[in-house]
Amino acid sequence: MNSELLIKNGRVIDPANGIDEKCDVLIVDEKIAEVGKIERPAQTVIDAAGKLVTPGLIDIHVHFREPGDEEEETIASGSAAAVAAGFTSVVCMPNTNPAIENETDVEYIHRKGRQARKTHVYTMGSITKKREGVELAEMGFMAEAGAVGFTDDGNGVQNLAVMLRALKYADMFDVVIAQHCQDDGFAGNGVMNAGFHSTVLGLPGIDALAEEAMLWRDIQLVKKVRPGRIRYHAQHISTARSVELIRAAKRDSLPITCEVTPHHLLFTEQCCADYDTNYKVNPPLRTAKDVEALKQAIADGLIDALVTDHAPHLQSEKELEFLAAPFGVASLECALGLYVKALIEPGILDWPGLIKLMTEKPAKIIGVDKGTLGVGKQADVAIIDPNAQYKIDTERFRSKSRNCPYNGWTVKGRVEKTIVGGEIRFE
Ligand SMILES: [Zn+2]
Ligand SMILES: [Zn+2]
Repeated sequence: MNSELLIKNGRVIDPANGIDEKCDVLIVDEKIAEVGKIERPAQTVIDAAGKLVTPGLIDIHVHFREPGDEEEETIASGSAAAVAAGFTSVVCMPNTNPAIENETDVEYIHRKGRQARKTHVYTMGSITKKREGVELAEMGFMAEAGAVGFTDDGNGVQNLAVMLRALKYADMFDVVIAQHCQDDGFAGNGVMNAGFHSTVLGLPGIDALAEEAMLWRDIQLVKKVRPGRIRYHAQHISTARSVELIRAAKRDSLPITCEVTPHHLLFTEQCCADYDTNYKVNPPLRTAKDVEALKQAIADGLIDALVTDHAPHLQSEKELEFLAAPFGVASLECALGLYVKALIEPGILDWPGLIKLMTEKPAKIIGVDKGTLGVGKQADVAIIDPNAQYKIDTERFRSKSRNCPYNGWTVKGRVEKTIVGGEIRFE
């Protein structure tokens, strides 16, 4: 017998199919069976009046720390956090310990994800062996094993020849190459944005140019490799000039996409003034002008995906002094509320616009058939109360880590239910 789940009376938002209307969604077994006015009984009926019914959210940039740093996060704890936040698919970064660099590693992540039975867990593979930037990792085998892209995230690929080879190689497998744009030599031992504030605080800075220079270089490489199936994705862009580089690349119709994080929209470098390490991130928090440029880029449709770069760390590590503490913010569990605050409340995006950048577009970047409520698609659905306010409380996080500068914030937009493959996995 088939299992049936009928979601009634919600505001159904499915940007991929141009749907934004009050109607019903019928799920049979693990698939979307019908969207529209549905007058029939079903085994399970959910009343979603006053709620949004959207494709499950997709975060293509998370760090779940497994293998190697399971005390910070595991695939199980990260998956539980994801599904509680409406995410039905996540993409793990390969900078684990050891790095994800062959097919066995990729299969390990997938197996752990299946065992957790929460969200769909994908992974990218490393571009280079041990993420050392020298020799290409086994990208072909990893792609065959289901890696949805490649990145040395945590660092960019420094060597131009290696990066060119990686782009050409990825082109053969039709997978995306994602880059943490930062010139290591130029960034040096910087811990925050370089400028007036870093000087006042006496902290070494990371110049915006460290990001922009690598992004510019990569755009030239993409031009060189074209035409082909090549796809390049700039991770967590953070500066006004990066936005301009992306704008020009898109004007030239280059196959380039990019993403932003909540922290680069909600904070500036001034947040580092109290040496609070929860504001130590990489790339660093930038100036108010950069933040405005990122928001304008979102309004202009230049940004392809909203991600978290969820980077859990132990409290003991984040309690180190600013110079020694690790980079990163744990934000997966409150991501939707943060994006509502950053983008919907100021009127930069409406709900369909926000959902598009958290579902349809990220799915396209990694090349998976997800992010829509189309009939016949796997039933990954989020039910969201757009008006429910709640207080972010890190003590209640399912994530193992608490390095979250948003603790105590009141945000709007609460996930009520998350359905993964037709199964209610969070409510
Ligand atoms: Zn990164
Ligand atoms: Zn990252």
